[in-house]
Amino acid sequence: MLKKGRLFILSGPSGCGKDTILKEVLTADPRVKLSISTITRAMREGEREGEKYHFISRGEFERLLAQNAFLEYNEYLGNYYGTPKKPIENWLADGYDVLLEIDVNGAQKVRSLLPQTPSIFILPPSMAVLRERLSGRGTETAEVVKRRLAEAAREISQAGVYDYLVVNDELETAVGDILAILRAHKCTNQEMGEFMKEVQKDAESRNW
Ligand code: 5GP
Repeated sequence: MLKKGRLFILSGPSGCGKDTILKEVLTADPRVKLSISTITRAMREGEREGEKYHFISRGEFERLLAQNAFLEYNEYLGNYYGTPKKPIENWLADGYDVLLEIDVNGAQKVRSLLPQTPSIFILPPSMAVLRERLSGRGTETAEVVKRRLAEAAREISQAGVYDYLVVNDELETAVGDILAILRAHKCTNQEMGEFMKEVQKDAESRNW
Protein backbone atom coordinates (compact mmCIF):
# COMPACT_ATOMS: atom_id res chain seq x y z
CA MET A 1 0.00 0.00 0.00
CA LEU A 2 1.27 3.48 -0.78
CA LYS A 3 1.93 5.68 2.24
CA LYS A 4 -0.39 8.46 3.42
CA GLY A 5 0.75 12.08 3.82
CA ARG A 6 4.20 13.17 4.90
CA LEU A 7 5.43 15.66 7.44
CA PHE A 8 8.10 18.26 6.56
CA ILE A 9 9.94 20.73 8.78
CA LEU A 10 10.44 24.20 7.37
CA SER A 11 12.55 26.83 9.14
CA GLY A 12 14.17 30.11 8.30
CA PRO A 13 14.85 33.32 10.15
CA SER A 14 12.14 35.89 10.66
CA GLY A 15 12.10 38.15 7.57
CA CYS A 16 13.49 35.57 5.14
CA GLY A 17 10.19 35.50 3.26
CA LYS A 18 8.83 32.18 4.54
CA ASP A 19 5.21 33.36 4.66
CA THR A 20 5.16 34.58 1.06
CA ILE A 21 6.84 31.39 -0.17
CA LEU A 22 4.46 29.18 1.80
CA LYS A 23 1.40 31.00 0.50
CA GLU A 24 2.54 30.30 -3.07
CA VAL A 25 3.37 26.67 -2.29
CA LEU A 26 -0.12 26.09 -0.83
CA THR A 27 -1.76 27.70 -3.85
CA ALA A 28 0.33 25.67 -6.27
CA ASP A 29 -0.32 22.32 -4.58
CA PRO A 30 -3.71 21.66 -2.94
CA ARG A 31 -2.38 18.42 -1.39
CA VAL A 32 -0.13 20.46 0.90
CA LYS A 33 -1.30 21.85 4.27
CA LEU A 34 0.44 24.26 6.59
CA SER A 35 0.21 23.63 10.31
CA ILE A 36 -1.34 26.60 12.13
CA SER A 37 0.61 27.26 15.32
CA THR A 38 -0.94 28.37 18.58
CA ILE A 39 0.95 31.34 19.97
CA THR A 40 0.84 33.88 22.80
CA ARG A 41 2.50 36.89 21.12
CA ALA A 42 0.39 39.97 20.36
CA MET A 43 -1.25 40.06 16.95
CA ARG A 44 0.64 42.18 14.42
CA GLU A 45 -1.08 44.62 12.12
CA GLY A 46 -2.47 42.74 9.13
CA GLU A 47 -2.59 39.39 10.95
CA ARG A 48 -5.87 37.58 11.41
CA GLU A 49 -6.92 34.94 13.93
CA GLY A 50 -6.68 31.45 12.41
CA GLU A 51 -4.89 32.49 9.24
CA LYS A 52 -1.30 31.68 10.17
CA TYR A 53 -1.67 31.50 13.94
CA HIS A 54 -4.21 30.94 16.68
CA PHE A 55 -3.66 33.67 19.27
CA ILE A 56 -4.30 32.69 22.89
CA SER A 57 -3.28 33.81 26.39
CA ARG A 58 -0.34 32.34 28.32
CA GLY A 59 -2.80 30.77 30.75
CA GLU A 60 -4.69 28.99 27.96
CA PHE A 61 -1.40 27.88 26.39
CA GLU A 62 -0.22 26.40 29.67
CA ARG A 63 -3.51 24.54 30.05
CA LEU A 64 -3.13 23.01 26.56
CA LEU A 65 0.47 22.16 27.35
CA ALA A 66 -0.65 20.25 30.43
CA GLN A 67 -3.12 18.34 28.23
CA ASN A 68 -0.24 17.28 25.93
CA ALA A 69 -1.94 19.00 22.99
CA PHE A 70 1.32 20.02 21.25
CA LEU A 71 3.71 18.03 19.10
CA GLU A 72 6.37 20.56 20.14
CA TYR A 73 6.52 24.08 21.51
CA ASN A 74 9.10 26.77 22.06
CA GLU A 75 9.46 30.01 23.94
CA TYR A 76 10.73 32.64 21.50
CA LEU A 77 11.49 36.19 22.65
CA GLY A 78 9.19 35.79 25.64
CA ASN A 79 6.21 34.22 23.86
CA TYR A 80 5.06 30.63 23.48
CA TYR A 81 4.75 29.06 20.02
CA GLY A 82 3.23 25.56 19.79
CA THR A 83 2.34 23.05 17.07
CA PRO A 84 -1.08 21.45 17.80
CA LYS A 85 -1.01 17.67 17.33
CA LYS A 86 -4.59 16.86 16.33
CA PRO A 87 -4.97 18.68 12.97
CA ILE A 88 -1.62 17.29 11.79
CA GLU A 89 -2.63 13.72 12.60
CA ASN A 90 -5.93 14.21 10.74
CA TRP A 91 -4.31 15.73 7.64
CA LEU A 92 -1.65 13.03 7.44
CA ALA A 93 -4.34 10.34 7.73
CA ASP A 94 -6.23 12.03 4.87
CA GLY A 95 -3.11 11.89 2.67
CA TYR A 96 -2.05 15.55 2.79
CA ASP A 97 1.60 16.58 3.03
CA VAL A 98 1.95 18.80 6.10
CA LEU A 99 4.50 21.57 6.50
CA LEU A 100 5.56 22.55 10.00
CA GLU A 101 6.82 26.12 9.97
CA ILE A 102 8.87 26.12 13.14
CA ASP A 103 12.09 27.61 14.48
CA VAL A 104 15.36 25.70 14.90
CA ASN A 105 14.52 24.64 18.47
CA GLY A 106 11.15 23.27 17.40
CA ALA A 107 12.81 21.50 14.48
CA GLN A 108 15.25 19.80 16.84
CA LYS A 109 12.38 18.62 19.03
CA VAL A 110 10.44 17.19 16.06
CA ARG A 111 13.62 15.49 14.78
CA SER A 112 14.18 13.80 18.12
CA LEU A 113 10.54 12.59 18.17
CA LEU A 114 10.33 11.69 14.47
CA PRO A 115 13.91 11.37 13.18
CA GLN A 116 12.91 10.62 9.58
CA THR A 117 11.18 13.98 9.10
CA PRO A 118 12.79 15.80 6.16
CA SER A 119 13.74 19.40 6.87
CA ILE A 120 14.09 22.52 4.73
CA PHE A 121 15.86 25.72 5.77
CA ILE A 122 15.21 28.99 3.94
CA LEU A 123 18.24 31.26 3.72
CA PRO A 124 18.18 34.95 2.84
CA PRO A 125 20.47 35.90 -0.07
CA SER A 126 22.55 37.91 2.44
CA MET A 127 22.31 39.39 5.96
CA ALA A 128 22.11 42.88 4.40
CA VAL A 129 18.97 41.85 2.50
CA LEU A 130 17.51 40.30 5.64
CA ARG A 131 18.06 43.50 7.61
CA GLU A 132 16.44 45.51 4.85
CA ARG A 133 13.41 43.19 4.81
CA LEU A 134 13.05 43.26 8.60
CA SER A 135 13.27 47.07 8.83
CA GLY A 136 11.10 47.55 5.75
CA ARG A 137 8.27 45.60 7.34
CA GLY A 138 7.54 48.72 9.39
CA THR A 139 5.58 46.75 11.99
CA GLU A 140 8.42 46.46 14.52
CA THR A 141 10.47 48.92 16.56
CA ALA A 142 14.22 49.29 15.92
CA GLU A 143 14.85 47.34 19.14
CA VAL A 144 12.70 44.41 17.97
CA VAL A 145 14.42 44.43 14.55
CA LYS A 146 17.78 44.24 16.34
CA ARG A 147 16.65 41.31 18.48
CA ARG A 148 15.23 39.52 15.44
CA LEU A 149 18.50 40.00 13.53
CA ALA A 150 20.46 38.53 16.45
CA GLU A 151 17.99 35.64 16.58
CA ALA A 152 18.30 35.23 12.78
CA ALA A 153 22.09 34.93 13.09
CA ARG A 154 21.60 32.22 15.73
CA GLU A 155 19.09 30.34 13.53
CA ILE A 156 21.33 30.58 10.44
CA SER A 157 24.18 29.05 12.46
CA GLN A 158 22.02 25.89 12.75
CA ALA A 159 21.18 25.60 9.03
CA GLY A 160 23.83 22.90 8.51
CA VAL A 161 21.70 20.19 10.14
CA TYR A 162 18.83 20.62 7.65
CA ASP A 163 18.40 18.24 4.71
CA TYR A 164 17.59 20.94 2.15
CA LEU A 165 18.65 24.59 1.86
CA VAL A 166 16.61 27.00 -0.25
CA VAL A 167 17.72 30.59 -0.93
CA ASN A 168 14.95 33.11 -1.16
CA ASP A 169 16.38 35.49 -3.72
CA GLU A 170 13.81 35.10 -6.50
CA LEU A 171 10.42 34.15 -5.04
CA GLU A 172 9.42 32.00 -8.00
CA THR A 173 12.64 29.98 -7.83
CA ALA A 174 12.34 29.44 -4.08
CA VAL A 175 8.72 28.25 -4.45
CA GLY A 176 9.72 25.94 -7.31
CA ASP A 177 12.57 24.53 -5.21
CA ILE A 178 10.25 23.70 -2.32
CA LEU A 179 7.66 22.05 -4.59
CA ALA A 180 10.47 20.04 -6.18
CA ILE A 181 11.75 18.92 -2.77
CA LEU A 182 8.27 17.77 -1.68
CA ARG A 183 7.83 15.89 -4.93
CA ALA A 184 11.27 14.29 -4.96
CA HIS A 185 10.99 13.22 -1.32
CA LYS A 186 8.01 11.02 -2.25
CA CYS A 187 10.30 8.98 -4.49
CA THR A 188 13.01 8.34 -1.91
CA ASN A 189 13.70 4.81 -0.76
CA GLN A 190 12.68 5.92 2.75
CA GLU A 191 9.19 6.73 1.46
CA MET A 192 8.83 4.07 -1.23
CA GLY A 193 10.67 1.21 0.52
CA GLU A 194 7.54 -0.51 1.83
CA PHE A 195 5.80 -0.33 -1.53
CA MET A 196 8.93 -1.64 -3.25
CA LYS A 197 9.02 -4.63 -0.86
CA GLU A 198 5.40 -5.46 -1.68
CA VAL A 199 6.16 -5.45 -5.39
CA GLN A 200 9.33 -7.48 -4.82
CA LYS A 201 7.42 -10.03 -2.73
CA ASP A 202 4.80 -10.32 -5.43
CA ALA A 203 7.54 -10.65 -8.03
CA GLU A 204 9.26 -13.44 -6.07
CA SER A 205 6.09 -15.33 -5.30
CA ARG A 206 5.22 -16.11 -8.90
CA ASN A 207 6.80 -18.31 -11.44
CA TRP A 208 7.17 -15.87 -14.30
P1 5GP B 1 6.95 35.30 14.30
O1 5GP B 1 6.72 35.93 15.65
O2 5GP B 1 7.93 36.11 13.47
O3 5GP B 1 5.68 35.02 13.57
O4 5GP B 1 7.65 33.88 14.54
C1 5GP B 1 8.82 33.78 15.30
C2 5GP B 1 9.46 32.41 15.11
O5 5GP B 1 8.64 31.39 15.67
C3 5GP B 1 9.70 32.02 13.65
O6 5GP B 1 11.04 31.54 13.54
C4 5GP B 1 8.71 30.91 13.40
O7 5GP B 1 9.19 29.98 12.46
C5 5GP B 1 8.61 30.29 14.78
N1 5GP B 1 7.39 29.51 15.00
C6 5GP B 1 6.14 29.73 14.52
N2 5GP B 1 5.29 28.80 14.96
C7 5GP B 1 6.02 27.94 15.71
C8 5GP B 1 5.69 26.73 16.43
O8 5GP B 1 4.56 26.24 16.47
N3 5GP B 1 6.71 26.14 17.10
C9 5GP B 1 7.98 26.63 17.08
N4 5GP B 1 8.92 25.95 17.73
N5 5GP B 1 8.33 27.75 16.41
C10 5GP B 1 7.35 28.39 15.75
